[in-house]
Amino acid sequence: MTLRALVLVTLLLLGGPALSQSPSPSALPFVLKQVGPGVFAAIDGPEHKSGSNAGFVIGDDGVLVIDAFFTPDAAQALVAEIRRLTPMPIRYVVNTHYHADHTGGDQVLRDAGAIIIAHRNVRSWVRINNINLFGDRITPELKARIEALPLPDLVTDKDLTLWLGSRKIVVQTVLGHTGGDLTIFVPDAKVLFCGDMLWRKVPPNLIDGSVKHWTATTADFARIPSAAQFHYIPGHGDVADVHDVEDFRAYLLDLQRLVIDGRKAGLKDDALVQNVTPKLRALHPDWTISDRAVTAEVRYMDQELAGTKRRPVPQPD
Ligand SMILES: [Zn+2]
Repeated sequence: MTLRALVLVTLLLLGGPALSQSPSPSALPFVLKQVGPGVFAAIDGPEHKSGSNAGFVIGDDGVLVIDAFFTPDAAQALVAEIRRLTPMPIRYVVNTHYHADHTGGDQVLRDAGAIIIAHRNVRSWVRINNINLFGDRITPELKARIEALPLPDLVTDKDLTLWLGSRKIVVQTVLGHTGGDLTIFVPDAKVLFCGDMLWRKVPPNLIDGSVKHWTATTADFARIPSAAQFHYIPGHGDVADVHDVEDFRAYLLDLQRLVIDGRKAGLKDDALVQNVTPKLRALHPDWTISDRAVTAEVRYMDQELAGTKRRPVPQPD
C-alpha cells in the first residue's frame, strides 16, 4: 500500500477528515438561557430530547449543576456548554429529586468531576423506584440503565449552604413532588431552581406527589422577598416568573377542588376523569393538557383524597 493510500484508509477509519466543527446551537437537545450573572437554565427543547430541564451556576472557583437530564448524551452536551463558558471545575451536581429524567445523566457529571448531592431518600429510591415510575413503558435497556445509576455522594434532609468562592447557594428541602425534593436558591441572582416542584403550563406528574404539601410549598415560593424580580426555573416548561408560580398553584388547587366536587357527586374512575377534564382545560386554556396526563392526575388526586395514595417510603441508611 502506498503512503497516500494508507493515509486515505486511515482517514476513512477515523470517520473522515471534516469532524472538527462544533455542533450548531440548534443541534443541542436543550436551549440555554441566561437568567442571571453566571446563572443558566437549560430548557428542554420542543422534541423533549433532554427529558427535563437542568441548569448551572458559575461561581468564583467552580460550577454547580442542577439536575442531569434523562440521557447521558444530553448531560454530555450540558458539560460541553459549560466548558465553552468557563474552564472552572464542575464541583457539584444537585439532583432535585430521584426521577430518572433528572438523574439519568448523573454519571456523566460525576465523570466530569462533580460530587452528586441529593435528598437522603434519593439513595434508596433512585435505582428501585424509577423502575416503578416507568411502569409498563420500561424496556430491558432502560431497566439496566436505571439499576446502574450512580448513588449520591452527599445526602441531606436539611437545608444546606454551599459556597462557590464568594457565591452563596442554598439547597433547600421542600415537600410535595416525591418526598425527597430539593430546590436550589441563588440569592445574589434572584433565581430559584425548583425542579419538578414547579411545572409551567404543562400538568405535573403526581405519581409520588402530595398535592396538600405541594400547594403549601408553592405558596412559599410566591412569598419569597422580592418575588416579582425572581426567575423560577421549573423542571418542565419554560423559565417562569412569580405569576407562573401562582398559575401552577391555582392549577393544583383547581384539580383538587374539581376532584372533590366529582367525588361528592358520586363519580369515580372514568366518569370522574370525564367530568373533571373539560373543566380543568377551560380554567387553563393556555396549558397543554394531554389526555394521558390529566387521566393520571385525576386518578392520583382521587387516591390522595381517599387516603389510598401510595408514595415512596423513606428507607434506613
Ligand atoms: Zn419528577
